[in-house]
Amino acid sequence: MRILAVGAHPDDLEFFCGGTLAKYAKSGNEIFMSYLCTGCYGSRDTEPAKLSEIRAQEARNSAKIIGATVFGPISNDLDLFSNRESRIKVVDIIRQAKPDIIITHSTNDYMADHVATGQIVFDAAFTATLPLFKTDYPAHEKIMPIYSMDTSIGVGFDPELYIDITDYFETKKKMLLSHESQHKWIAGHHQTDAVGIIEKMSSFRGLQCGVKYAEAFKRVKVWGRIFPESLLK
Ligand SMILES: [Zn+2]
Repeated sequence: MRILAVGAHPDDLEFFCGGTLAKYAKSGNEIFMSYLCTGCYGSRDTEPAKLSEIRAQEARNSAKIIGATVFGPISNDLDLFSNRESRIKVVDIIRQAKPDIIITHSTNDYMADHVATGQIVFDAAFTATLPLFKTDYPAHEKIMPIYSMDTSIGVGFDPELYIDITDYFETKKKMLLSHESQHKWIAGHHQTDAVGIIEKMSSFRGLQCGVKYAEAFKRVKVWGRIFPESLLK
């Protein structure tokens, strides 16, 4: 299977679905990690252009840990809007990755880039399937399921699906720690530390489903993206 995960900033996927990506990479699936914004404002003292370069490298370092392919960015932070230009760019990410499933932000998350990413990915996922919608890449005609990953600190997110990441928590942590530029920033701007966040969130989601560490998801429920399941495992 081919899994495309699209976050807003270079470290978002590590927070919300890094363990899941690590798990599915290990079992032989092809993983594509995309972020749409440069992360250029995630600092108090580094120039935005310089910070964008640093963060692009950090994203590559993290993806390398699980052998994922990286796409992005397409915009500076807070310049990302759901418009024709961004939709086409994400259509081309989807057409290159040719995913069987997509994971992205929930549209009720805490800041504009996360909300915009969730919306643009949803819009682009349909657009990417249309052969007559011409871009640099041929259409990916599969209408694939889309999953929302947890919101920041799980606020307003009622999960439908839990992935046991107990054996992959250390990998998730290593991926997150690849984003070295962010440790001080998150500690200062959000008054908490990044590893503390994933430790608490993964433990809490794990507690809900009876394992040590888990990540939580919801399906985007629209026509064509819902598939029957069994009550019996
Ligand atoms: Zn973010």
